[in-house]
Amino acid sequence: MVYDRMDDRPAFVGIPTFLHLPALADAEALQQEHPDAVIVGAPTDTAVTHRPGARFGPRAIRAASNLRRGSYHLGLGVQPFKLLRVFDYGDADVVPGDIERTNQAVRAKVGEVAKAGARPIVLGGDHSVTYPSVSAVAEALGRGRLGVVHFDAHADTANDSWGVLLSHGTPMRRLIESGAVPGRAFVQVGLRGYWPPPSVFDWMREQGMRWHTIHDIQRRGFEAVLTEAIEQALDGPDRIYLSVDIDVLDPAYAPGTGTPEPGGLTARELLQAVREVTLRTELAGADVVEVSPPYDAAGITAEVAHRVVMEILSALAAKRAEGGA
Ligand code: MN
Ligand code: MN
Repeated sequence: MVYDRMDDRPAFVGIPTFLHLPALADAEALQQEHPDAVIVGAPTDTAVTHRPGARFGPRAIRAASNLRRGSYHLGLGVQPFKLLRVFDYGDADVVPGDIERTNQAVRAKVGEVAKAGARPIVLGGDHSVTYPSVSAVAEALGRGRLGVVHFDAHADTANDSWGVLLSHGTPMRRLIESGAVPGRAFVQVGLRGYWPPPSVFDWMREQGMRWHTIHDIQRRGFEAVLTEAIEQALDGPDRIYLSVDIDVLDPAYAPGTGTPEPGGLTARELLQAVREVTLRTELAGADVVEVSPPYDAAGITAEVAHRVVMEILSALAAKRAEGGA
C-alpha cells in the first residue's frame, strides 16, 4: 500500500476512484487499513418520483473536478490526505428496479464501513439510500446515539409516494418510525417550495422533529439558523450523520437534480454549513445525494457535490491537526 505517496497524475488519467484514492477490494482490506473515512457509491434511482438519472451520480461525482490528492484547503489550512486515511470502497450491489434489494445492498455495504470504525461517505443515488445508510450507522453505534442534520428543499417525511413506502420522498419517516434516529434529534435545513402538505408537518411535530425553512434563514440569517440546527441535532445523541440532498442548493448552482426547487442556498452557504457541522460535531457518516448527471448540462452539480465531500474531509483533517478526532 502506497498510501502516503500523493498521487500526482492528472485528475482525468487512470481508474476514477474518488480523487484517485486507493480502492478497497473487500471487507478484509477495509478492516486492515483502519480508515478514517470511506467513499461508498449507491448508484440507484429506482425510487425517484420525477426526473431520473441519479443512478449515474456516483460516477459523475468521482469523475468531477481537476483536484488531486495533494489538495490544500485554503480556508482551513490543511492538506486532508496528509492527515487522514481515506479509501474508495466502490459501489453497493444495487438491483435496478428493486428498491428493497437495493436498500439491503446499501445497508450491508455501509454497515461494513461503520463496523470497521470508519466514517462512510455515501455518494447517491436518490435520497432513498439515506434510510439504509443511516440505519447501518445507527446500528453500529447503538440505539439513540445518532442525530441527523439534513439539508434539503424537501422534508422527505411522507408516509408513501403513490403507495411506495421506500420512495425518495419517505426515507426520513422510515428512519424515525424504525427508531434508528430519535425524532427530536432529526433536524432539517433549507425546506421550501410547495411540499409536503400540512398533515405531514403535523406528523413531524408529533415526532419532535425540528426544521428550518429557507424563509427562517432569510429572516434570521444563515449563521444563527445553522448554530441552532447543530445544537438541536445533538439534543441527546453524541454523533451526527450529515445528509445533503443537492437540491437544497438553488438550481442555479445545482441544475442536475431530479426535483429542482428555485430559491435555495448558494454553493458558498452549503459548503460553509458542511464545514461547520463537521467541525462542531462528531461526524459518524454522511451522504450527498440526488445528483442527476443527464440534467447537469455544465457538470457544475457534480462539482459542488464533489466539494461537499472535500469540505467534510478537510474539516475532519483540521480537527485531526488540532489533536481532535
Ligand atoms: Mn431529499
Ligand atoms: Mn430534495
